[in-house]
Amino acid sequence: AAASYVTRQLGYSVLCHGEAERARPRVRGGVRGYTSTSEEKKERVVILGSGWAGYALARVVSPSKMDRVLISPRSYFVFTPLLASASVGTIEFRAAIEPVRRLGLTDYHQAWASDIDFNRKTIRLEATRRDDRATRSEAGPIPSGKEFEIGYDKLVIAVGCHSQTFGVEGVKEHACFLRDVGDSRLIRLKVLKAFEGAALPSTSEEDKKKLLHFAVVGGGPTGIEFAAELFDLVHEDLSKMYPALMKYVSITIYDIAPKVLPMFDKNLANYAIEMFHRQGIKVKTEHQLERIRRVDDHLMLKIREEPEEVGAGVVVWSTGLKQNPLVEKLVSQEIEGFGKILKDPKTGGIIVDEHMRVQTEFGSNGNKEKLSLTDVFAIGDCSVVEGEGFPNTAQVASQQAVYLGRQLNKGIDENKPFRFRNWGTMAYLGSWRAIHQSASDELKGKAAWILWRTAYLTKSMSIRNKLLIPVYWAITWIFGRDISRF
Ligand code: FAD
Repeated sequence: AAASYVTRQLGYSVLCHGEAERARPRVRGGVRGYTSTSEEKKERVVILGSGWAGYALARVVSPSKMDRVLISPRSYFVFTPLLASASVGTIEFRAAIEPVRRLGLTDYHQAWASDIDFNRKTIRLEATRRDDRATRSEAGPIPSGKEFEIGYDKLVIAVGCHSQTFGVEGVKEHACFLRDVGDSRLIRLKVLKAFEGAALPSTSEEDKKKLLHFAVVGGGPTGIEFAAELFDLVHEDLSKMYPALMKYVSITIYDIAPKVLPMFDKNLANYAIEMFHRQGIKVKTEHQLERIRRVDDHLMLKIREEPEEVGAGVVVWSTGLKQNPLVEKLVSQEIEGFGKILKDPKTGGIIVDEHMRVQTEFGSNGNKEKLSLTDVFAIGDCSVVEGEGFPNTAQVASQQAVYLGRQLNKGIDENKPFRFRNWGTMAYLGSWRAIHQSASDELKGKAAWILWRTAYLTKSMSIRNKLLIPVYWAITWIFGRDISRF
């Protein structure tokens, strides 16, 4: 039989408003279902993840309509576009995060979802420890050894992606990632440490050059913005503290692709490259990092296209995404009665329909049908809307969250599919200049920079941070960046 596209009504009823309550499956009208324990209670939506998708969803779902339970190893939301600024001290870390407990949730568990039983509607969780390392993305969640289960009525998977290192030797051990607030703190420490190391009278000229070479791997907006912010830190602040060291400082962006900023028009990408050229930031496209190794207090990089190894004090890795281990596990297992969750062949993400419902494929060769898990949704970087090529961005994640939140509040409206509205793309280039591109216009220079700052301010989540961010910008402008090491 030809593959058919069906939304199967599961006949699931309200289940477990407590921890690890279990119900016995029973057959109802030929469809697998479960006995109800408390029909009158509000439905419980369990959200996995406190990122752009999960946090935004928890804000939109009305507490008067549903009980909201959030699970995340991170007890805060990170405003990722400000991480590059935070890593050089333009703003303070606290202005880039929002604590999830401020949302007034029914419950929050600092835990990691390790498995989901879709038939029993339960999630297995591992409590995670909270320490400084846990705020760094490469550390991953630090399990405490305590495991428990909770039940859900509606489940939203919003666990995002992890950094992909493509197996390049030494990246995990020696490079810095830029995905969490602890990553920014580590970068700031390492940059300042490199300057202090280079300032020692015992450091040779050769080693000064190595220590003060900052390598950025990845020419997407994140890598470009980090290089630009670093340029500002060096030229606006560190140049006053370490004038004798300026001649040793260099910043290089390496990218394996033939061009950087591929999402921008040629005209804007060229403007960015010209600006970097004027600022002395080297952009090396079609250059592939093969290995990083530590030698004393600096790093040595092997670039495939260059005969000699290059020294560096700090390497920031900002390229490549890979699926979250939970997603990898979910798409590989068989759900009784529903088959396998469909995964996108390119990204490995969970395929959802235009209402964000997780899709499965049931049956064997020649007799396959597509089904929707009516109570299970996936949004943000870990999901792919079938037939759409939305990029992995905060814009997409937050719009999906707002859409789904409203649908959950009112009940899913089959006639109202998700529509993405592209607000445009921006990148900061240093020296108060930026580029902006949308379907209707293009902007570059100071005007784009004003737009860039305004957008970040208006999109930041709480009134507290909307006030804090301009205060930090003003402090930086008047007194310079915070260059203390702690
Ligand atoms: P994330 O924000 O990554 O959140 C995932 C959440 O899930 C985290 O809280 C994590 O702790 C949690 N989690 C992970 N595993 C589990 C588990 N097993 N159980 C429970 N919880 C789990 N996009 C833009 O549109 N504009 C920008 O300017 C922009 N700038 C960026 C700058 C940087 C430095 C970075 C890194 C990204 C930027 N992006 C930007 C991309 C944007 O941040 C991502 O697309 C967005 O974060 C995706 O949101 P998400 O909620 O799907 O995932």
